[in-house]
Amino acid sequence: MSTTILLFRQDLRLHDHPALAAAAQRGNVLPVFIYDQQVAGNWDFGGASQWWLHESLTSLSESIRSLGGQLVLRRGNTVETLIELQASTQADAIYFSRQYQPWSAALEASINAEFMRRSVEVKRYPGTLLHEPGSVLTGSGTSFKVFTPFWRAANKVPAAMPVPLPDIRWTPTPIATDALIEWQLQPSAQDRMPDWAEGWSALWKPGEDGAKKALDTFLEAPVAQYSEGRDLPAKRYTSRLSPHLKFGEISPRQVWAAAQQRKLSAPQWSSAIDKFLAEIGWREFCYQLIDLFGEMPNTPFKNQFAAFPWDNSKAQLKAWQQGQTGYPIVDAGMRELWQTGFMHNRVRMIVASFLTKHLLVHWVEGERWFWDCLVDADIASNACSWQWVAGSGADAAPYFRIFNPIAQGQKFDPEGEYVRRWCPELAELPKKFVHAPWEAPILTLATAGVELGTTYPMPIVDHKAARQGALDAYEVIKKAS
Ligand SMILES: Cc1cc2nc3c(=O)[nH]c(=O)nc-3n(C[C@H](O)[C@H](O)[C@H](O)COP(=O)(O)OP(=O)(O)OC[C@H]3O[C@@H](n4cnc5c(N)ncnc54)[C@H](O)[C@@H]3O)c2cc1C
Repeated sequence: MSTTILLFRQDLRLHDHPALAAAAQRGNVLPVFIYDQQVAGNWDFGGASQWWLHESLTSLSESIRSLGGQLVLRRGNTVETLIELQASTQADAIYFSRQYQPWSAALEASINAEFMRRSVEVKRYPGTLLHEPGSVLTGSGTSFKVFTPFWRAANKVPAAMPVPLPDIRWTPTPIATDALIEWQLQPSAQDRMPDWAEGWSALWKPGEDGAKKALDTFLEAPVAQYSEGRDLPAKRYTSRLSPHLKFGEISPRQVWAAAQQRKLSAPQWSSAIDKFLAEIGWREFCYQLIDLFGEMPNTPFKNQFAAFPWDNSKAQLKAWQQGQTGYPIVDAGMRELWQTGFMHNRVRMIVASFLTKHLLVHWVEGERWFWDCLVDADIASNACSWQWVAGSGADAAPYFRIFNPIAQGQKFDPEGEYVRRWCPELAELPKKFVHAPWEAPILTLATAGVELGTTYPMPIVDHKAARQGALDAYEVIKKAS
């Protein structure tokens, strides 16, 4: 009987898993996850993602156990670990889902090269994206660098349908496995005090079931409000699927298929559903861009930004990280991030604009902080989004589009509900001042229990002056190019 090693990567699910389905057709399946801390270089899982990984692997292990198998966990070099597993099990094939991180192609090539010599079949399968990078191209055969025509062209290519859960015969021989707890992925396991992830289990349900539930809940009702509601951080009108998609607990094809079904049962929501799918399209676009330009996480896509005169004040970066800038919508976002591992998309744009333009701190600093703090930290979406906001990315927001944090707060959090939730020291301020407490009369501040500079900081920069400073800095690279 043939044995196939099924290497799980960021595809921690059993349904719509083409590599697993193909492995199951060959014979016995040995399911393996290898935590290779070296392969991604500086971009190994951040703290919040490690928490999620632990939970997601726990969930996957349980699903496999309930079907009579055992997920083998190993930590170490991927190729070396595969060599050892293949030798000890006499597996004659290794299957996995193709991944698109900048380091993935080299890893996949070395697995292929190593096992070709040993006459072990190596195959990689799609399943992480709707469309493989390189499959949606312009009329002249080049990659798109602008989202709208990319997505228009992508929509003309039918997305593949999800594949069902196959009948699986797991490898019967018991194989040595690490205990997940030994990997110390969670802060509680590392004696890291305080346990910053305390309470996250009530907020998130990592794993395939949690992913399906998040999708079903979203398509049941909130999607109806998506077109306008997606910009309101105080409301729950978005799917919160990003960490599930990041870890592959659900595939974009499953999301696509379920959304198409929903359009049939609720045709009046079709345009909201299409808007939602266009955001899935942004995820695709980011992967297409990072495939084109693997340096995206570290280097500006637009070369002229390499000479940008960043200020990089450590004190201001720290104030931003800690939600102590004195701008309530920025501080609320940064505290939401720290306390939940997530931040609403609108607020991500505001805080990113504030860091790169008001504070003139390099976008890589923000990207790194997000990488460590976000449960959905994704190399392509994170890098492309930071560059989009900073103005250096493909199809980026024009540099001179500098978000006014006060106006953004007033527009997208008109009642101050979001700010009050994450900055409780401002909770009693009337809504007129909740986004600009320094404008409130002394008596109003006193009645609300706010003492600026003591209970809540004064703004660390003046909005108008900072805006002008950003525009002046931009002039430097404009002149140079
Ligand atoms: C500075 C910055 C950094 C970001 N970093 C990440 C990141 O590390 N990981 C990540 O998944 N998203 C990132 N995003 C994109 C976006 O903020 C999140 O995907 C979104 O907030 C997730 O919430 P949701 O699942 O409720 O989204 P929904 O609105 O329900 O969207 C559905 C799905 O579409 C995808 N998506 C939505 N918006 C975007 C976008 N702008 N770019 C790419 N994909 C998108 C996500 O997979 C999301 O789950 C970043 C955005 C900014 C501005």
